[in-house]
Amino acid sequence: MSGATNRAAQDAPIATDTSWKSFDAGALANNATAALRAYDPGHDLPALRKRFGAEIAELGSNENPLGPSPRAVEAMRGALAETFRYPDPRGLSLKTALSARLGVGTDRIALGNGSHELLMLLAQCFADSTHSVVFSQYGFAVFPIATAAAGAIALRVPALPRSHPSAPYGHDLDAIAAAVRADTRIVYLANPNNPTGTWFDDAALDDFVARVPRDVLIVVDEAYSEYVDASGLTSALRLAGRYPNLVVTRTFSKAYGLAGLRIGYFIAHPSVVEVIERLRESFNVNNVALAAAEAALSDAEHLAEVRAFNGAERAWLVDALKSRGYAPLPSQTNFVLVDVGGDAAQFEKRLFERGVIVRPMQGYGFRDAVRISVGNRTENQRLADALP
Ligand code: PMP
Repeated sequence: MSGATNRAAQDAPIATDTSWKSFDAGALANNATAALRAYDPGHDLPALRKRFGAEIAELGSNENPLGPSPRAVEAMRGALAETFRYPDPRGLSLKTALSARLGVGTDRIALGNGSHELLMLLAQCFADSTHSVVFSQYGFAVFPIATAAAGAIALRVPALPRSHPSAPYGHDLDAIAAAVRADTRIVYLANPNNPTGTWFDDAALDDFVARVPRDVLIVVDEAYSEYVDASGLTSALRLAGRYPNLVVTRTFSKAYGLAGLRIGYFIAHPSVVEVIERLRESFNVNNVALAAAEAALSDAEHLAEVRAFNGAERAWLVDALKSRGYAPLPSQTNFVLVDVGGDAAQFEKRLFERGVIVRPMQGYGFRDAVRISVGNRTENQRLADALP
């Protein structure tokens, strides 16, 4: 009987034959997927953590060194006992909290397994091979992936020049507006943007949205908006009642310190939410994440602490870099893009050998820049000490 109760157990590796070896599913992928490459996760961080523990300073993934609100941690513990149940497929309790916080109806909110999922879903639901999607040259990496996955035509608009006084390599909104064609369905903007850290102000966005036709969705990715302290920049949300084609995405991964739970949201016209609901996996957000996000939202004090901490540490990091002759780009986020001059791969390797992980930017086409996340003081100091 023991064999019957354990029928799936397999001690020996399953043997493969010649047809296995010659099979290539890559040749069977649909056109959109055939054009894509898998996400490059960079270093094997779980393995490095296991090996070196606190000995490594992880400054490569824009995570929050303060972690989540204690209230969120408590809520997660409480939710664990409920994980045998499916989560609320509508996430209504969290949506109600977001609704109260943001001043929009719950019917205008969609929840995602990270905002990444929502950015992907928007392209899948609204664009196909007969449409184009517009984004900036150094816009967030998911924009071209979402476009390609939907089989849509990517219109990649040259970024502002490095010499631009306020937004080097940033979004050129005039050029982006000019790139919109009759077949354009989506414009993706990130404000502030990853990996540049650059931003555009409220006045620039006002001007932009007024120029884009209403049948083009303007997706403003505000993953880092909680960190913003620049004057003249609030949120695209203030336009949410006037422009039905405006979609604002946010996340709990950054300032709320819940990257590992995978939860984000967007605010849009109710009909945009309705379309997304057709393709959204019904239980895309788990119940631990729902509970944690709601609790995190209620802790304004923790968020204020995170903001202040990040502002102070970012200034410290920028000073440390500048004093060593580096030129970090202006940033309103929890990271800075830094010209390291010459070979960024060498620079990254040198830091890695000293236990400091930063993100190389070759994938974005920056051969001589790395992206460095703002850590705690110990981590930032380690980075400063490791600089060539
Ligand atoms: N937008 C931007 C600009 C980002 O940098 C990130 C995270 N790297 C995301 C969206 C996605 O974040 P998440 O899926 O964790 O919400």
